[in-house]
This record gives sequence, C-alpha cells and structure tokens, in this order.
Amino acid sequence: MTVTLATTTIKHFINGAESAGEGPRRQPVYNPATGAVCAELHLANGADLDSTVAAARAAADSWGDTSLAKRTTVLFAFRELVAAHVDDLAALITAEHGKVLSDARGEIGRGLEVIEFACGIPTLLKGDYSDQASTGIDVFSFREPLGVVAGITPFNFPVMVPLWMAPMAIATGNAFILKPSERDPSAAMLLARLWKDAGLPDGVFQVLHGDRETVEGLLTHPDVDGISFVGSTPIAQYVHETATRHGKRVQALGGAKNHALVMPDADLDNAADHLSAAAFGSAGERCMAISVAVAVGEAADLLVAKVEERALAVKVTIGTEPDADMGPVITADSRDRIVRIVTESADAGAVMVVDGRDLVVPGHEDGFWVGPTVLDHVTTAMTAYSEEVFGPVLVVVRVPDLAAGIALINANPYGNGTAIFTSSGAHARTFQRAVSVGMIGINVPLPVPVAYHSFGGWKASLFGDRHIYGPEGVSFYTRGKVVTSRWPEPAAESGASYNFPST
Ligand code: NAD
Repeated sequence: MTVTLATTTIKHFINGAESAGEGPRRQPVYNPATGAVCAELHLANGADLDSTVAAARAAADSWGDTSLAKRTTVLFAFRELVAAHVDDLAALITAEHGKVLSDARGEIGRGLEVIEFACGIPTLLKGDYSDQASTGIDVFSFREPLGVVAGITPFNFPVMVPLWMAPMAIATGNAFILKPSERDPSAAMLLARLWKDAGLPDGVFQVLHGDRETVEGLLTHPDVDGISFVGSTPIAQYVHETATRHGKRVQALGGAKNHALVMPDADLDNAADHLSAAAFGSAGERCMAISVAVAVGEAADLLVAKVEERALAVKVTIGTEPDADMGPVITADSRDRIVRIVTESADAGAVMVVDGRDLVVPGHEDGFWVGPTVLDHVTTAMTAYSEEVFGPVLVVVRVPDLAAGIALINANPYGNGTAIFTSSGAHARTFQRAVSVGMIGINVPLPVPVAYHSFGGWKASLFGDRHIYGPEGVSFYTRGKVVTSRWPEPAAESGASYNFPST
C-alpha cells in the first residue's frame, strides 16, 4: 500500500472513507520542533458525531456476529500491516509530537504487542461449562461485545494508546470510534487505512476528530455503550462521571507523578542511567515517566552528582536527527508552563542542579524547547512536586529511610507507576507490598506491563474498576451471559417444583 495522507488537511475517517464532515471548525496542527503549522484539522460537529455513531451501530451487529475465525484473520492481517508501516507511522508521530524516531518506533512496538495479544481472541473468549450442575442441568457462561465503544486518547502516545484499546475492542466484537488528540491526529488516520486494508468491514473502526464538544457528544450519546479514556486527571474524572451518569461502562486513565526510590545499597550508576532516561526520554511526556527521585539517606549526594552528569549529556534536537535523545515539548503553552513551575520552585528554595529553561536548538529557534532540568532539595509544598509537570524535569526529594520514602509515595494523590532501585530483596519486597500504586518496577524504571497483563494505576490515575488491555481489556469490552440449561427426555418430565432445586 502506498501511504498518501493529506499533509495540509486532516479529515475524519467515517464508514470506511475519509470525510470532511459537516463541522465548519478547523484547528492548526504544529510541528513542535519547528513551531510551524504542518496541517489543518477538521473538527466534528453534532451531525458528524451522529453519522459516525450511526455507522458504528450498523456495523456493530454484524461484526459482533462474525465468527472468531474471521475476526482473527483480520487481526493477523492488521498486525502484519502495522509491522510493515512502522517507519511511516513513526514519521507521522515525530512530525506532530516531536519525540525522536527511535522512541516513536518503540511506542509502535508496544502497540504491536497488544495486537498480537488480541490475535489470541478465540482462546481469550472461551467460556466456562459446568456439566450436571444439578441433575440433568448444565450451566455455561460466555461473553458478548458491548456494541459501540469510543476511545478518547492523549497526545503523548498517538499510536500506542489507541492500540491499547482498538485491537481489544474489535477482537471482542465491538465497533470502535477513535477520538484522537487534536495535537497529533495523523497517525490515527493511517491506522484507519491499515484496518481497512486488513479487511475490517466499514464502520467497525472510525476516526472522529474534535475537542471538548465531540468528547461530550460521545459521553452522552445514547448509542455509545462504552468509553475508554486516557488523558489528564481532571478530564478523566469528568469523563468517568459524565459517561457513567449516562449509563455507559467507563475506564478513564488519568495523570501521574511517578516516584523512583533509590536506596543507598543500589548500584548508583545504573540507577542514574535509568533515572535520566526515564525522566528525559520523550521530553518527560510519558504517563510512566519518572518525575520524582526519592533519594534515601547517604545515596543522595552521589546520586544527584551522577544524574547531573547524565542530564548534561542528553542530546536535545529535532527528532529526525539520528543522534537525538530528546525532542521538543508539545506546545508553546506547555513549554511556558514547565518553565513557570521550575522558576516557582527555584524561587521557593529548590536547588537548581541542571537548568534547561533557556535551551536554544540552533537552526530550530522557533521550536518548543525545554532542556533536561534537575531540581534538588525539593519539598512537597513546591509546585514542581505538587503538579504533574509533564516535561523533562526531575525533582529530587531527600528522605532518611525506606519507610519515609514509602510514606511520601503513599501520600501522593497519584498512583500510576513507581520504582525502587536496590540490591536488597527484602527492601524490594517491603516496597512492592507497601506502596499504593498500580504498577511497580524493581530495578526497572518504567514498569509498563506486557500486553498479556493489564495496565492501570490507582487513586487519581484511574477512574473505573478495570485496567486497560490484557485480560482486563477483554473483560471491559464484553459482558457476561450465564445459561442454565435442561433438556429432559420427554418421558422423564415430572412437572415443576415449588422448591429451590438443589440436587
Ligand atoms: P488531555 O486530558 O488534555 O486530553 C486527552 C483527551 O481529552 C484528548 O483527546 C482531548 O481532546 C480531550 N480533552 C481535552 N480537554 C477536554 C475537555 N475539557 N473536555 C473533554 N475532553 C477534553 O491530556 P493530554 O494533554 O493530551 O495528555 C497528557 C495527559 O495524559 C497527562 O496527564 C498524562 O499523564 C496522561 N496520560 C495518562 C496515561 C495513563 O495511562 N494513565 C497515559 C498517557 C497519558
């Protein structure tokens, strides 16, 4: 397949074809490395929403009735097409998000894992059967699709997060509507083409671009049965409350403030390497990025010196450069907010170890740049600690011992990911059992679960009771049926009993 995407106008993908829709509103899409507008995005109105949901509703019944064998064939074909288009998808991600190409390829790799997991759908949907549950009675259970489900996704993983949702929703027999981030929407359009080329019927995967208005329309539409959301905490909470009130099943993943605790017995070089990569990779715009280093006791001075060395060595430039470690942040507003938070915290007494506020990338002066920044002696009252910075900023909080570090982590309102660096199995075990966080790394800084487990945080990082992808994804996109069945021989029929049968 030749990739021919409109570079100046990005339309919706409705019922198997690109569509300008009827909505008159447009929004610019920027290349964050140059600051230039690279495309104009169509935003949906109410009529576009209605036609998209109607196409999904029409497609859902027949797709839900399509055999597991046929669905699996489409998923395998889609897997092959995504794998064949990794470079095309990565180029779109880097052009609109700014992350470096190798990292863009990495996020597609994590998305591919979910497609591969979804290829096992016949096994994943096998029900349970109890023969002779009562005399002459069998009981069996199985799961059916919800119907029409929508995914609302953030800017920071324009391929991986949609692939956390769509392969699971589609494999389980649903029609899926993707409302991608309006900041980097092009990769979603290529995914739509690949689904179509894989043989997916029209209307089963659609892309509807929009902002708050479109999201609100999806959350309240009577023909939408389920909502998967990934984004910031205030919006996640609003999405969960609104869609739940409108009778939908909802999973809404929110923001994060991920702490990595470093014990004095850790290999500090290894810890500093990982902290730097986990704090500054993708310009810190990862929901699992490490943004707080919790330095325990005598580890602190040495650790800060080693992290400083690594932060200064990070190569920040346009993401298509082969030696780039880190690209720009997503918008000028985001850059200004990050700089404001760093300045406020320094003014409040944090020690500036590495200052990335004034970074200039020669040749790309209009890009949205912030360099790696390290703040030491940060307290919980400072905004660099209390806010989700979502930029290349690592704050160091010093604590006297493991118990104080765990107490700090548990007092934080977020609970997405956390990590411990230690050479002690006892410390690691205490940590893994005591922290109120959904995903934990032991000498692993970014503990994003593999696709056959599920991904989800605790507290303000997830609203709803099911994690995303993996076994919990199968459960989220389906609902259970239990059949109690009796086929008596005509001669053996002896009438109904007025008692609750127990034998
Ligand atoms: P965001 O909340 O601004 O946007 C997410 C989605 O919600 C987008 O599609 C956007 O169009 C829509 N949206 C934005 N404002 C809205 C409003 N007022 N009403 C309705 N919809 C609205 O998030 P973002 O800036 O795109 O992404 C970064 C955030 O996402 C960070 O907080 C990050 O931690 C979080 N995130 C979390 C996870 C996770 O797994 N928990 C993963 C990735 C990103």
